[in-house]
Amino acid sequence: MATKSLDELTFNNRYTATLPADPSTEIRPREVRGASFSRVTPKTTAAPKIIGISPEMVAALELDTAVVDTDRFAAVMTGNEVLDGMDTYAACYGGHQFGNWAGQLGDGRAIALGEVETSSGEHYTLQLKGAGPTPYSRSADGLAVLRSSVREFLCSEAMHHLGVPTTRALSLALTGDQVLRDMFYNGNAAFESGAIVCRVAPSFVRFGNFELPSSRQDIDLLRATADHTIRTDFPHLGEPSPEVYAAWFGEIVDRTADMIVHWMRVGFVHGVMNTDNMSIHGLTIDYGPYGWLEDFDPNWTPNTTDAGRKRYRFGAQPAIAQWNLMQLANAIYPLIEKAEPLQAALDGYVERYQTGYQTMMANKLGLDRFDPEVDEDLMADLLNVLQLAETDMTIFYRNLADVDLAAGASADDRFAPLAEAYYVPEQLTTEVRSQIDAWLVRYADRVEASTLSADARVKLMNATNPKYVLRNYLAQLAIDKADAGDYAMITELLDVLRHPYDDQPGNETFAEKRPDWARTRPGCSMLSCSS
Ligand code: AMP
Ligand code: MG
Repeated sequence: MATKSLDELTFNNRYTATLPADPSTEIRPREVRGASFSRVTPKTTAAPKIIGISPEMVAALELDTAVVDTDRFAAVMTGNEVLDGMDTYAACYGGHQFGNWAGQLGDGRAIALGEVETSSGEHYTLQLKGAGPTPYSRSADGLAVLRSSVREFLCSEAMHHLGVPTTRALSLALTGDQVLRDMFYNGNAAFESGAIVCRVAPSFVRFGNFELPSSRQDIDLLRATADHTIRTDFPHLGEPSPEVYAAWFGEIVDRTADMIVHWMRVGFVHGVMNTDNMSIHGLTIDYGPYGWLEDFDPNWTPNTTDAGRKRYRFGAQPAIAQWNLMQLANAIYPLIEKAEPLQAALDGYVERYQTGYQTMMANKLGLDRFDPEVDEDLMADLLNVLQLAETDMTIFYRNLADVDLAAGASADDRFAPLAEAYYVPEQLTTEVRSQIDAWLVRYADRVEASTLSADARVKLMNATNPKYVLRNYLAQLAIDKADAGDYAMITELLDVLRHPYDDQPGNETFAEKRPDWARTRPGCSMLSCSS
């Protein structure tokens, strides 16, 4: 296939061509009614410089690899140049934030460029995060800083390579501008480097795109948004009708449940599961104060803004997703005017999530199937075992495949590969060790009853339990270096994270557990929404 220059990209801007536009192009913060979006031009940046690229996204967009090294690419990916065919806009949506209806929110620091249509008919919406103010910026500046942009760039690509549905990132660029931020909302504002991530997704439509018109009883706009979404991204469901709306909702329920199963598999905590941060495609979206479980603690959240209630803690994510889906169901009810099909779809969430979770856990343990007779207890007890002492979730599961399960093995033999998963050796008392071993013995029995060969079991486990995840401190190290002008670690880390299930001899340091210095360091274990 021939690759393309920037000018050869084909734009087919279905969102702005179909949905109603805000007649005003005024940028000041304001209420926008009866419109899905406002046209805005990205702010000019001082000195654009690309510091991160996703080779897979360059290929997906059919771009020539040499294009990304050009000044023009940097100019386009920071909004300094708008290509012919682009139609730049900020979307209007609302949302429930931390459980409360927040009214209009919208793209306050994201400006979509348009929809690329590839030669195979694939559609990709490009969106610049941090490209300047929009009517939805409220009191903020519409900009993004380097640390949060590095985090979004790396995590969206890492999640993709882990097999987790997610929005993508084509590029990470410095703007050359300085941005004022109060990182911990404690009155210590400082200038930081501005940056822009070019995000990519089929669309950036969120639950909140439906909630806002519904809350305003603007049923025409609600219907137009739903019809557009179904026709462009769910065409297999057929032409919109009350039955199709219900089927569509059922599919969103399934996709959302599947996404959460993946989060629980890899130890990802989103941190801000507000309904404006829930993609209608079931993609992980809006990487803010997210984090990765180090020691397995279902009550952990990285988000200091949520430290009091921990609404979005790791273990609460499945229930929160269901709550968010209920808000979406309420929002689209006027299109169906029957509660029953929506309720039925919503009820399907628990079943879908549970089945998905059980299969996922069986895969993590390398079992042939989920056997409700024994596996329910085995899995529940494992979650307790993981909390007896500070246990690195990623290392524990990855190394479980190496545990000697032979009948003649000793407790020490069994424990040996798991030792490196424990953060505090003193916590491994005789009592704790014996509880861990009691579980391993039961696990060995269960593996014995499984029909998989030893090889097949290890293969399944190593394809389910990643060796490399974007550990919080690794992202922070890349940020520290970038802040000092050294961008090499961003690409180095991305390259490791592109193959998270491979052993990658020579890269083992990236798989090590969090060093002690990172335990309480801001950015490593604690993050605020400031970005
Ligand atoms: P979040 O929960 O971080 O996705 O953001 C919630 C809302 O705040 C969205 O409408 C964002 O567009 C808006 N927002 C967050 N940060 C900024 C910023 N720096 N400038 C303008 N709007 C922002
Ligand atoms: Mg958001």
